[in-house]
Amino acid sequence: MGHHRIHNFNAGPAALPESVLEEAQESLLNYKGSGMSITEISHRSKLFEDIINDAVARTKRLLKLDDRFTVLFIQGGASMQFCMIPMNFLDGNKSADYVDTGTWSSKAIKEAQILGKKITVVASSKDKNYSYIPKGISFSKDAAFVHITSNNTIKGTQWASFPDTKGVPIVSDMSSDIMSRPLDADRFALIYAGAQKNIGPAGVCMVIIREDMLKMVPDNLPAMLKYTTYAESNSLYNTPPCFGIYIIQLVLKWLEETIGGLEKMDAINRKKGETLYGYMDSSKFYKATAEPGSRSLMNVTFRLPSEELEKKFIDEAQKNGLGGLKGHRSVGGCRASIYNATGQEAVNALTGFMKEFEKKNG
Ligand SMILES: *Cc1c(COP(=O)(O)O)cnc(C)c1O
Repeated sequence: MGHHRIHNFNAGPAALPESVLEEAQESLLNYKGSGMSITEISHRSKLFEDIINDAVARTKRLLKLDDRFTVLFIQGGASMQFCMIPMNFLDGNKSADYVDTGTWSSKAIKEAQILGKKITVVASSKDKNYSYIPKGISFSKDAAFVHITSNNTIKGTQWASFPDTKGVPIVSDMSSDIMSRPLDADRFALIYAGAQKNIGPAGVCMVIIREDMLKMVPDNLPAMLKYTTYAESNSLYNTPPCFGIYIIQLVLKWLEETIGGLEKMDAINRKKGETLYGYMDSSKFYKATAEPGSRSLMNVTFRLPSEELEKKFIDEAQKNGLGGLKGHRSVGGCRASIYNATGQEAVNALTGFMKEFEKKNG
């Protein structure tokens, strides 16, 4: 077809598997011989019902979720979950623990505070510019939940394993690492993920919720801000983000049928991380910003010796078909987001370019 696609290291919206885009391209004109575009079919049609049900079934298989869990699709991004979570689960006197590991957890904390909910920030890595994941945290015994951000997209850190909360259920923002590795679902009461990092396009947030959490939802909330509204209607209370859900379905199919599941995906992601971090650790020119042990396998943040060199690096990389390497505007530096759809060959191309750049400028 002659499409020239670059190696895409964008943080979000981010790379999607090419086979998914090709299938979506066909569906944009005529979905499954219906004579209608995927964007033209009714969300109440059998065609769409099959899509959403398949997306839910694949999510449950991939993440090994048992019948206690319901999979929802909600608009408003991960950011809307920051307010929905305290609204739905911190009614009356209930309280929750939050761990602050950077921008997105800080925003989640702020939203709970705006609502006047009782929350305790039990740990923070702010003291070292969020370059690590806190350890040895003591959680409150009576907390309704513990909120964490499993992968910190901007700071480049990730929980390698989840903390021992002594039975208090974990609520996790997994926007930037959902489906990147197997999940021990037993630890979680709610998981949410804006699709545009690892599983789809912008406009839809996947929410996985356990049945006991649904029982905590108060009646006096607007319909659109209540988890029960979505759970009782298979996410079809109003018109859902149909196209986003469709792409998620295709990505999940790719994960199951092309990749072969999350153990395989995890192995691929680990290899990618080893290639990139391994090279940077051997170089005096590039410096990974996250502490070893807390490093993200999804967002690799790093610095060069000067801001001037960073700018030159990002520009020249772009000219060499390596896009999206600029760090988040709040932190500067460089960031290579290597989500599921950005493969080993992209990482190899990046490290190859990095070596050349170091030779010329180091
Ligand atoms: C991108 C991101 C968000 C914000 O997502 P929106 O869908 O833009 O609201 C929240 N949390 C994490 C971890 C993210 O990476």
